[in-house]
Amino acid sequence: MDFEFTENQEAMRKAVSELCNTFPPTYWRAKDKDRQYPEEFVDALTKAGWLSVLIPAEYGGAGLGMLEASIILEEINRSGATATACHAQMYTMGAILRHGSREQKERYLPGIAKGEIRLQSLGLTEPESGSDTTRIKTFAKLEGDSYIVNGQKIFISRVQHSDLMLLVARTTPFEKAEKKTMGLSLFLVDLRSAGESLKVSPIETLVNHETNELQIQDLVVPRENLLGKEGMGFYHLLDGLNAERILVAAECIGDGYWFIDKAVSYAKQRVIFGRPIGENQGVQFPIAEAYSSIRAADLVRYKAASMFDQGKDCGEEANMAKLLASEASWEAANVAMTTYGGYGMAVDSDVERKFRESRLFLTAPVANNLILGYLGSHTLGLQRSF
Ligand SMILES: Cc1cc2nc3c(=O)[nH]c(=O)nc-3n(C[C@H](O)[C@H](O)[C@H](O)COP(=O)(O)OP(=O)(O)OC[C@H]3O[C@@H](n4cnc5c(N)ncnc54)[C@H](O)[C@@H]3O)c2cc1C
Repeated sequence: MDFEFTENQEAMRKAVSELCNTFPPTYWRAKDKDRQYPEEFVDALTKAGWLSVLIPAEYGGAGLGMLEASIILEEINRSGATATACHAQMYTMGAILRHGSREQKERYLPGIAKGEIRLQSLGLTEPESGSDTTRIKTFAKLEGDSYIVNGQKIFISRVQHSDLMLLVARTTPFEKAEKKTMGLSLFLVDLRSAGESLKVSPIETLVNHETNELQIQDLVVPRENLLGKEGMGFYHLLDGLNAERILVAAECIGDGYWFIDKAVSYAKQRVIFGRPIGENQGVQFPIAEAYSSIRAADLVRYKAASMFDQGKDCGEEANMAKLLASEASWEAANVAMTTYGGYGMAVDSDVERKFRESRLFLTAPVANNLILGYLGSHTLGLQRSF
């Protein structure tokens, strides 16, 4: 068992970190304050090729694996930035890589690799069904050579900064499906030509995260934009969800290390009662504890990513990585906030912004209770709770 990075991985980590350091905390504070999309940052990452590393070389990408992709996203968050503005492209494109036809791959992947097309949006969640994905109601009806889509989605991120959206819709109603997980299908929707059929209403949230409610009315999606097999979308999505969980775990770990670094340096230099606050066990031990939690979650993330790259079933590891990493980073967020005292609340500390950002991961893209339910029933063989 080797826990060391290769020379290439180490060089990649350094290069991503250097790029991120050209976007100082003042950049992120301003974006957060004005609720703006970090366009310049996403452009820079795209130009440098970091968002297309999973695309095979024959389509213009770097042809790297999940481990490398996770290192990139971790490094982004570790620098004080946030990868949520662009992380979806990495896991969403997996649907094209694994289930797209040759023609679809040739049509989209080179453009994504060059940065000419953005695939940053995944339209899954609906207001009524929430975490109960199989109960979604958005419906795609085949009429001639096109699907006509009607429905509603909520919390769909980056729609206004993406060219394509991976849309999940029912093609067989829930009541008529052979199994509840059947009858769902995946579509690539061209947002540039959706026009009036797609009404986008932004939702303000705790974090600066361009997220929206979508009203879909008679949206025409050409049949050739169906990804994979009709009715098998849930299963096609599952492979991508493991990727999503591993990548989100890496982002949480990046956040976690950022919080620890901030807490450690502040605890060393803040002198109260005549000595640095870090000399008090009440301050030092929670930092050490949070650090250990991050390191432990990191190991599970590396295992999950390696298994994914070896084509092994990594559902259990990917889910545990997301669960442990999001909880560890939230623990570290609280520790940093406590260590900073009142100053943690000041915008200039950056702690309050990252604190809000890290909270999101306990709930999205999958609520941790759903992961516990998966582990309880799939891994441990307990009764299904949903
Ligand atoms: C900022 C933001 C960005 C998002 N971006 C996207 C996006 O781009 N695309 C997309 O499709 N979705 C997106 N989402 C949606 C996100 O994935 C969902 O919010 C999340 O999956 C939870 O669904 P819900 O909010 O409907 O909660 P619900 O399903 O209503 O759950 C509410 C609470 O009840 C708990 N719960 C529910 N059922 C059970 C059960 N059986 N056992 C135990 N506990 C249970 C959950 O854990 C949760 O804490 C985003 C959300 C946010 C906030």
